Amino acid sequence: MKLAKLNGKAEIFHTIQGEGKSIGRPSIFIRTSLCNLHCSWCDTDYTWNWTGTPFRHDKDVEPGYEKYAKAEYIAELSVTEIAAELEQINCRNVVLTGGEPLLQQAELAELMLLLRRANSNYRFEVETNGTIIPTNAFDSLVSQYNVSPKLSNSNNSTKLREKPEVYNFFAGNTRAVFKFVVSDTGDLEEVLTLVSRYDIKPGNVYLMPEGTSPERLKEKQQWLIEACKKYNFNYTDRLHIHIYGNKRGV
Ligand code: SF4
Repeated sequence: MKLAKLNGKAEIFHTIQGEGKSIGRPSIFIRTSLCNLHCSWCDTDYTWNWTGTPFRHDKDVEPGYEKYAKAEYIAELSVTEIAAELEQINCRNVVLTGGEPLLQQAELAELMLLLRRANSNYRFEVETNGTIIPTNAFDSLVSQYNVSPKLSNSNNSTKLREKPEVYNFFAGNTRAVFKFVVSDTGDLEEVLTLVSRYDIKPGNVYLMPEGTSPERLKEKQQWLIEACKKYNFNYTDRLHIHIYGNKRGV
């Protein structure tokens, strides 16, 4: 499997879930490499913004920002190697994230099966951008989908980021919740349109302020909470930003 590489090692880390329905829950994160989208504000751009690709990123204007050499940012591990590493950690909630993990869903299904066979208490959450339908084999092993569809502020084309059949799949899946990153009222309008278009239950919607610093999150907290009250959505913070800042691997 292709995992993101951090400090020369595959990005697998034991922390707490910082966002959404399971916020605060001790979890092991497995960060897969590769993504089928290219959001201009992506904070895991080292999973896809490879040298030679044409994608734009907000950080392009920062001095010293360069695209990533693909070979240096991917750790190749077998499913057995990953399972062995996880079994050393005293935690049974596993979050499959990325990049876009569903790009490697066959291998991830193998991994989940292996772990469940070793210990039936394993619980799997999948963080996905909601553009790929899971296979039956994959779906049967997942406890919770944290679907985070991208809005126009991501600068991906509508065709790439809004796949009606995938929205319909997740809107009708009782294990799926939707998490939208919201920056302003325009974003909120888009969310309302999508929720109505795909008949998403308000109780399954989480609004999260955009921001990678506690100050920036705080700026948006109040009006976003008011929006949640108005539409019966859930509010979610980004706990890990308050605790660790904008750091990788925590
Ligand atoms: S879908 Fe997620 S990982 Fe992919 S580019 Fe967007 S924010 Fe980054």
